[in-house]
Amino acid sequence: MPDLLESLRALVGEVGVLDAPTLAKRSAGAMRADALQALALVRPANTAEVSAVLRLCHERHLGVVTQGGLTGLVHGADAGPEQIILSLERMRSIEAIDAVQRTATVQAGVTVQALQEAVQAQDLAFPLDLGSRGSATLGGTAATNAGGNRVLRFGMTRDMVLGLEVVLADGSVVSSLNHLIKNNAGYDLKHWFIGSEGTLGVITRLVLRLRERPRSHDVALVALPSFDAVAQLLKHMDRSLGGQLSAFEVMWPSFYQLVTTPPAQGRPPLAPGQAFYALVESQGASIEADAERFAAALQVAMDEGLVVDATVAQSGGERQALWALRDDVAQVMVGGVPMGFDISLPIGEMERYTRELAEALQREIGAHQLWIFGHLGDGNLHIVVQVGAEQATHLRPRIEALVYAPLAGFGGSVSAEHGIGLEKKAWLAISRSEPEIALMRRIKAALDPQHRLNPAKVLP
Ligand code: ZN
Repeated sequence: MPDLLESLRALVGEVGVLDAPTLAKRSAGAMRADALQALALVRPANTAEVSAVLRLCHERHLGVVTQGGLTGLVHGADAGPEQIILSLERMRSIEAIDAVQRTATVQAGVTVQALQEAVQAQDLAFPLDLGSRGSATLGGTAATNAGGNRVLRFGMTRDMVLGLEVVLADGSVVSSLNHLIKNNAGYDLKHWFIGSEGTLGVITRLVLRLRERPRSHDVALVALPSFDAVAQLLKHMDRSLGGQLSAFEVMWPSFYQLVTTPPAQGRPPLAPGQAFYALVESQGASIEADAERFAAALQVAMDEGLVVDATVAQSGGERQALWALRDDVAQVMVGGVPMGFDISLPIGEMERYTRELAEALQREIGAHQLWIFGHLGDGNLHIVVQVGAEQATHLRPRIEALVYAPLAGFGGSVSAEHGIGLEKKAWLAISRSEPEIALMRRIKAALDPQHRLNPAKVLP
């Protein structure tokens, strides 16, 4: 082992290698109580060093787990004691921002927030946004095809990546740093790696698509009398705002109560007791005209009975306070063990699915809490089932089955935006057919025949 650490240090320098005892002091990630474990953590500073490390690991038959900001929630970056962690935390350079072509070229370890701030200084926007923006890295969001709050308008990470540089399992570098929106020259190789969760290659650099910075920013919290009204309001706001609807987040009443009641910091801007609450956001080019159009659209929704109560943010502070309610997911940690699920469903099926899930949990699980919220505009729900610490381990498989198994009949997906990792491997077949999984295996075998990259993840 000393020999391995010495060989790694020769490639990336003293500062680039952390040994196992040092790792035991580092958290394994967001919402985790355990520590990292591995033979060593290697922190290369550039693509050439990543390539050299992968070549060495290839020669020594070592498994390699690539890590970004460790904000994933499906154990997709867990390493074992016999594996090497490849962390891109030292690759934090924003190499170029092209304001005319509207692209940014970055190293994979740059955080989402760092890029957002850098492009904002040039009057541009990088529209990917998620609660973990301060830690999540751009390489990680691409490797997991992260979604977040504005998918409704701008798509998933996949839709914002124009080019990638990737290092393959044997250390070879494939630089495909395309800057063009349209480039139909053969297979679009970047899509093999986006969403592959580090199992096919290591993303080292990216070219990302930027947008003009929006001038107006209108946010409202509304209360609705029924799920049908929620579905109608989404269509009504989208139709009325001429393409400017940028988020449509829905909270079931138990989640609204959770984030507006102590120990949560938030207080209810609208009276509790309504069937649903929605956070609606519009971003556009004209501050006054957009605010008028937003208010007028909400007024029509109230006149038609789709909305029974509403508050429109009057300042940046009020906007943030409304978003803070939706983002205060940490409250699910209070008072028990939370099990979080990230699923997709056709909007028309959501009410029946969630009602049947609540009934099944009542019937089959003892005391528990159920909270539902999510990016309803994209068909993505986050479901949290909280149980007592003593029951969590033995109830988990049963609760997973109650959440995932019915999705097949609803045409849903076991993963909307969090990926598969280790946690959902057993459920992949709910959302992907046998021929699809067989083709995934052939791609994996072609790119990483010895299963060195993120071993045992994604594919059952
Ligand atoms: Zn989400």
